[in-house]
Amino acid sequence: MTRATLIRVRGQVQGVGFRPFVWQLARKYGVAGEVLNDPEGVLIRATGDALPDFIEAISAQAPPLSRVDAVECADHVFDVTPASFEIVASEGRGAETRITPDAASCADCIDDIWGADPRRAGYAFTNCTHCGPRFTIIDALPYDRSRTSMARFEMCRDCAVEYGDPADRRFHAQPVACALCGPQLWLEGPAGREAQNVVEVAARLLAKGAILAVKGLGGFHLCCDAQNAEAVQKLRRRKHRPTKPLAIMDRLEGIARYADLTPADAARLQDPAAPIVLLRKKAGMLPDTLAPDLDVLGVMLPYTPLHHLLLRHVRGPLVMTSGNLSGEPQVIANNEAREKLSDIVDGFVMHDRDILRRLDDSVERETPQGPMILRRARGRVPETLPLPEGFESAPQTVAFGAHLKSAICLIKNGQALLSHHLGDLDDALTWEEFLKADRDYAELFDHQAEVFAADMHEGYRSAQHARARAGTAPYVEVQHHHAHLAACLAENNWPLDGGAVAGIILDGLGLGTDGSVWGGEVLLGDYRSFERYAHLAPVPLVGGDAAQREPWRSAVMRLDRVERGAAADHLFADLPLAMIRQAARAGVNAPLSSSAGRLFDAFAATLGIAPDRQSFEGEAAMLLEALARRAPAEESAYPYMFATNQAGGALDDSDLWADWAKDIEDGLAPEAMARRFHAGVAASFALQARRLIQQGRAKAVVLSGGCFQNALLLEETLSRLKDVPVLTHRRVPANDGGLALGQAVIAAALFPTNR
Ligand code: ZN
Ligand code: ZN
Ligand code: FE
Repeated sequence: MTRATLIRVRGQVQGVGFRPFVWQLARKYGVAGEVLNDPEGVLIRATGDALPDFIEAISAQAPPLSRVDAVECADHVFDVTPASFEIVASEGRGAETRITPDAASCADCIDDIWGADPRRAGYAFTNCTHCGPRFTIIDALPYDRSRTSMARFEMCRDCAVEYGDPADRRFHAQPVACALCGPQLWLEGPAGREAQNVVEVAARLLAKGAILAVKGLGGFHLCCDAQNAEAVQKLRRRKHRPTKPLAIMDRLEGIARYADLTPADAARLQDPAAPIVLLRKKAGMLPDTLAPDLDVLGVMLPYTPLHHLLLRHVRGPLVMTSGNLSGEPQVIANNEAREKLSDIVDGFVMHDRDILRRLDDSVERETPQGPMILRRARGRVPETLPLPEGFESAPQTVAFGAHLKSAICLIKNGQALLSHHLGDLDDALTWEEFLKADRDYAELFDHQAEVFAADMHEGYRSAQHARARAGTAPYVEVQHHHAHLAACLAENNWPLDGGAVAGIILDGLGLGTDGSVWGGEVLLGDYRSFERYAHLAPVPLVGGDAAQREPWRSAVMRLDRVERGAAADHLFADLPLAMIRQAARAGVNAPLSSSAGRLFDAFAATLGIAPDRQSFEGEAAMLLEALARRAPAEESAYPYMFATNQAGGALDDSDLWADWAKDIEDGLAPEAMARRFHAGVAASFALQARRLIQQGRAKAVVLSGGCFQNALLLEETLSRLKDVPVLTHRRVPANDGGLALGQAVIAAALFPTNR
């Protein structure tokens, strides 16, 4: 018998090379015993003199893609003294059920593709335990090669040796491959099919202004030379995408030429998730048509060997935008790409490794207040979030999110899994994706839902689906902005019984409990319940979808409400004002709305910077933020706020418009007015929330809702809440992409144990 230690490692420790890492550490420290996977993570039984150093090294030197949440030790006794250290078979049902997100190529693998070994030199599918495809190639669990789209590629002898050697960087790397045995590239271009020098030929086409479809990790991209304004215009024309910003891909060295790069930005770009990061652009360096009139540009680093190879040959930024038809999900299959993208592209860079899961690029942003997630997808899912104290015995719950930026959320074992961004459920193919994701995530994570949740808006297809799925099981209809509040609480680990908070929820649209459309609210509540403490004075939202697409409609209604209709007549003389005014009076397709998103639209329209008809959601608000950033910061000392003397209720915005009128009369620059507007909105809502704190009714302030993806609004709001605790989003989107998390925790709070 030998006295030993049982070491339990929790966190993201499976499928990231953790066992071989432990094996190598054990050799280094002369430790004997074994390591294995089990349902709780990684388990080590070990003995040796250097055990304390060994244990310390486990978290200090953990592999790049792992995340160690805890290392717990207990006594153990070996019946037979082990002579060596071994990796042994998994124990327990449900072991190896964790999947890590896809990861950008690691530095070692990039060295391999620039190296001399012909198996990997220039090989576009090089990967190892520390990088490469994961979630996008998995068909089913447990995660091993036979259940991935690598199954059809039989490893050559050399790859098999690497795969089987714990000392090798490719030990148990399921997608391991080399030029002799793995997936192959080819090009389908104007000159037919070419399998030789694919990257060189593709680069030459791009240099000549061609648009190519390039198969990536989670889908096809449309690619062209980002410095070639003509090619960019051609892409926009063919894709019917007039103004929506296009993401670009470049090497880190190149980016600083045309964008401001803070250390935080650089770190985020280099994260293994390799998201698109919004960077402040330097004027005049790249065609403005990449992101017309905006002050930011979406940039990502190359994240597959193919991207690295392409960029080395092109030597400049490439547009890399989702390969899809307008409004549809991204294309993933070769045939689908040929069918749908032929009219857009001049050629295809294809390969024969199938994409099994469609994943858009994630979109993120660094702000002085921390990171911001705008779209959560490739590289971030299927990461889980631990739930706060009080949710330990929460039932298995599923929530179905919103309608336009849909995502679903599962709760199981005290963890929440928020799915990837799915998109607009009005699109038939996205709807299919949504249904597929529901089945798929449940199957993959062995999830048997006991409690169901969705938005209380019965018109949402997600809600209709939820009701049908729930049958007779507990089903919770959640108010949209309460869900935003709860998502922010859960993300910030606010305990179930942590007390009430004041939620400033500035958002687009969500159905309220009174049947009107909310969106500019101060809610007072917790996970279980809430009251509507204050809200923006409502105006009619005329014309359903048109009201969202056409900012001038909101402007007219706002100005009419404060008896400034004459100003609207003047500003929007060539638009059908009489029609919408009549609809508003008659109450035809004109529900009242307190939406803050529409207030931003309205203000942008009155400054003349909003298109009559937006070509993508949030366009006017993004232009307004960009405009405001051009103003000197002194303008943020806004001389007025709306509804200063009100405590709760409908907040009157007549002062705002009175000062707007005065600013116009004084000839104040639109930049300054935009800046003052941001500051005024921030100050007005902060004031209401602060009152709830002062009265002892709220313990903290929560900031959520889609408007808080406006970094200037966030900054202005935080600057007015410096002396009170404030919770904001960092890992979950503030917009409807995070809604399902809020719905799920609310449902779990209402049905703490469904037994
Ligand atoms: Zn690697
Ligand atoms: Zn091989
Ligand atoms: Fe929302």
